[in-house]
Amino acid sequence: MDYQKLADLLFPDVTLTPEEIEQRYPKRQLPEGAKVTRFAPSPTGFVHFGGLFPSTVGERLAHLSGGVFYLRIEDTDGKREVPGAAEGLIKTLERYGIKFDEGAVINEDGAIGSKGDYGPYKQSQRKEIYHVFAKELVKKGLAYPVFTSAEELEELEKTDKKTEIKNKEWTEEATAAQMAEMLKLREITIEEVESHLANGDQFVLRMLAKCDDPEKKIKITDLIKGTLELPVNDKDEVLLKSNGIPTYHFAHAVDDHLMGTTHVIRGEEWLPSLPRHIMLFEYLGFKLPKYMHIAQIMRLDEEGNKKKLSKRDMGANMDDYTRMGYSPKAVIEYIMTLLNSNYEEWHTQNPEKPYTEFPFNIKKMSTSGCLFDFNKLNDVSKNVICRMTAEEVYNEVVLWAKDFDPHFYEKLTADEDYAKAILSIGRGGKKPRKDFATWTDVKPYMSLFYDDYFSYIDEIPENFSKADVKSALEKFMTTYDPACDNNAWFENVKAISEQIGYAPDVKLYKSNPDAYRGHVGDVSMFLRVAVTGKLNSPDLYTIMQIIGQDKVNERIKNFICNL
Ligand code: GLU
Repeated sequence: MDYQKLADLLFPDVTLTPEEIEQRYPKRQLPEGAKVTRFAPSPTGFVHFGGLFPSTVGERLAHLSGGVFYLRIEDTDGKREVPGAAEGLIKTLERYGIKFDEGAVINEDGAIGSKGDYGPYKQSQRKEIYHVFAKELVKKGLAYPVFTSAEELEELEKTDKKTEIKNKEWTEEATAAQMAEMLKLREITIEEVESHLANGDQFVLRMLAKCDDPEKKIKITDLIKGTLELPVNDKDEVLLKSNGIPTYHFAHAVDDHLMGTTHVIRGEEWLPSLPRHIMLFEYLGFKLPKYMHIAQIMRLDEEGNKKKLSKRDMGANMDDYTRMGYSPKAVIEYIMTLLNSNYEEWHTQNPEKPYTEFPFNIKKMSTSGCLFDFNKLNDVSKNVICRMTAEEVYNEVVLWAKDFDPHFYEKLTADEDYAKAILSIGRGGKKPRKDFATWTDVKPYMSLFYDDYFSYIDEIPENFSKADVKSALEKFMTTYDPACDNNAWFENVKAISEQIGYAPDVKLYKSNPDAYRGHVGDVSMFLRVAVTGKLNSPDLYTIMQIIGQDKVNERIKNFICNL
């Protein structure tokens, strides 16, 4: 077979050589040990939690090593592409602070453009490049065309509209006879090719898997999974589909080589394809990158069984987190705890340090699948939010409320200082309050400060006499001095307690309960319920300072009226 002729027949428009393409992608000048990683999503929908996960790994590995992290849009499957998904992906990743040094970006006109010297970073814009390497493989006798006539194509389209037309399938289940027939396809002659082309028939390009022993295994070290033995590839995988667009496999090899990826980080669903990729890299004369196949994210179902976190599950779509009011900082922090088992310990020891300073270690990654759990996420989130400044909390809540609770947004922005004063309660110090896991928790917490949202939720337990309550509250109104500090305020509450026969000190009460009608804690509780509507609230003195004397009196008066 004259492979050069075959290559020229199949790719008459390709004039560039692989060397010429290689020159456009010079070796990156990076410090020793620097890693080049990428996130390579297909724009088929939203960013999945299971996508943010590996992209965080890629980002960390690249940036901790002084390397490069880039974004490549893998849009080779036109039929599954969702319009606007690529733009959505870029925006979502930005929201989570995943910073790309190069890759696909949204241009000012809204179209997808490229930033960096190793682009284009959108596979549909790289057809010409793939064809150069495809032609080279044909020239070397390592790939061959399989033609389909227009009628056959039409027939196939009818039966299976969803999947790309790949021609006759080279499947695991193929019988010996089918295999023999498929192997015959390798023997196409120049004359047959010429006649097909003259007919205008389309072809897919398959790699010719040279495998003399299908039982043979290859050893490969995955940086997460360890050393694996996988069956050598014996399938003539499709490299180019009939529309000339590459398959994932071919695009992966060409792009990751040219773009200088040192570590391919991807989901473990690609692990079975690895022997094919190894063969392809070898055929193309490319150095094999290092691989890290990340275990799938699991969740517990109602029966407590581990299940894969699927696209439809709550917690899969990153846009859900926005709607539910999770801070991106909390989500990333949670991802770090899932990624490295020692992250939490490090974080406890270094509470002020950002996660970017954590010495991320591949060896500490789970090989079997992390368990996604909202309770744990909420815990992590509370810890993250409690360390934010009131200003940070305010900004994030406002941003969230603007889209998801416009009325609350109005309230928050009408008096910024007031809102910030509320959010400052219990912040700073060694044991900050942990009231918020999501921004949806903020309104119920702040409701007591806004008449529009205020209501009496709790009641004073019935064992206290209404007369005592009334008397304590009335005494408080006449003695409350907002200029007093916290101590003086509490001294006053103690004095009121004594006046109505309640112990000014809980210990005192406990030592002789019969001598008192109650204690100072009970009187504080009367005040708390009257002013905040709840049995539990942040520091009452501070609440009164924020809402002011008039509001304190108004609430107490109302409460007494309804006693
Ligand atoms: N486009 C592939 C996917 O979304 C990327 C896999 C890879 O990172 O190589 O699954």
